[in-house]
Amino acid sequence: MRTHTLVPSLLLLGAFSCTAACSSGSDGSSGTASDARPGAAPTPSPVRGVDPSKIKGLEIVSDSSEQSSCPFATSYPNVPGAEAMTAAMKKDVDERLADFRSGACEGGGNSLELNVSHQFLVASGDVLGVRLSTQDHSGAGSGLSTRTYWYDGKAGAYRTPLGLVADGSQDAFIAALKDQLKGREGIDATALDSTLSDPASRTAALDDMVFTTDGGLRVTFDRGEVGVPPAGTYMVAFPKETITPWLSAFGQRVQQQTMTPSRSLDLGAAPVPAPAVPTHTASGDDDTDCKKVTCIALTFDDGPAAPETATLLTSLAQYRARATFFTVGQNVAAHPELVRAEARAGHEVGNHSWNHPDLTKLTPSQIASQLNRTSAAIKAATGKAPTLFRPPYGAINAQVKSATTLSPVLWDVDTEDWKYRDEDKVARTVIAKAQRNDVVLMHDIHPTSVAAVPQILRTLTDRGYHFVTVSHLRASL
Ligand code: ZN
Repeated sequence: MRTHTLVPSLLLLGAFSCTAACSSGSDGSSGTASDARPGAAPTPSPVRGVDPSKIKGLEIVSDSSEQSSCPFATSYPNVPGAEAMTAAMKKDVDERLADFRSGACEGGGNSLELNVSHQFLVASGDVLGVRLSTQDHSGAGSGLSTRTYWYDGKAGAYRTPLGLVADGSQDAFIAALKDQLKGREGIDATALDSTLSDPASRTAALDDMVFTTDGGLRVTFDRGEVGVPPAGTYMVAFPKETITPWLSAFGQRVQQQTMTPSRSLDLGAAPVPAPAVPTHTASGDDDTDCKKVTCIALTFDDGPAAPETATLLTSLAQYRARATFFTVGQNVAAHPELVRAEARAGHEVGNHSWNHPDLTKLTPSQIASQLNRTSAAIKAATGKAPTLFRPPYGAINAQVKSATTLSPVLWDVDTEDWKYRDEDKVARTVIAKAQRNDVVLMHDIHPTSVAAVPQILRTLTDRGYHFVTVSHLRASL
């Protein structure tokens, strides 16, 4: 019989995201939304979680604003050896961001948003797989879209999802897909035929294919790709026995590495030396009395980032300055060693959500998920759960407040450092605007902001400032 699985896009957003458990190396899947009606397709096996901190030389390429009139946050991974795949992701992300910035941001003062987050699907043996999820509120095409990217380390080649299927089996695979989709609510059979028959539109539509832990293949279609937009996302799941004969040699290796991952990823790249992690250790609690001396709280959002955060920690240690880091969960999962170094050096680690969405646009359970998963990742890295959070874009309302026990932190001085990327301007802005007991907003994902810090520390130290964490400042006022 025909099956029917319509999955609301926001549920998928959760289902596709790696939970904080990824950072501890366990299965990070969070289940899969499914249709509860009688006769519905059985829930496909979940996608296995990957611990990104085990990927040698991994760099997360992040960009974001902190401005509610132009809210965007993008991220994708740069894995040594998979440069062609990184280039494909960069091209897609750059295009989306350029579109968003030239459209939504030019007008200013609107409530539109672009968010691109990443999730590792496989990082094992000679196979790398990543899904980028784009939440776009910028216009007619608004909604969630997902795309998977594959890298074949044996061949040294980037592969699109269709590369998982052997050339000679593509017709049979497409016929089976059509057969599964036809008859579902919202599917236009004629449009479906033409979309999947034309090679170009076929490649565009079949841009999200992933194996499940039991060896089955899951194909996801974005809203409006094969059905009427109100019907949302469509998913087709093939069991292992059906899909295996149709797979390419690469597809078979991806299937194998998904079901039984190797201990490590080896794409044949030259070994990358592990980046140095500062080992500065704070000696005891901070006894600065902000009633008696002039205090200021520097805060750094959106990290950790390698190598910028390590550079920043070294500068802060040189001036015995303490700071507060509002970290993004997906970056904590990639670089727990840097978050550990922050805490060890006496800095405060706060929560800045998992992937930097505007929390006021989410449901209470989505807000809780964004914050809880990040707190769990911070606790896994440092042994201590955070008590503070900073809402992305400073966007907060009663619903966000009631979804968490964390205390919100906004800022007094906004450097807008994400906008101009100019070391001297960042330093001048902070030095000109700083006042006693201010909370200053910067971002440690930008090398220019990190480079501005020594000048800020030197000048403000000369003026008698003491650099404390947000909680220390609050406790002493
Ligand atoms: Zn931010």
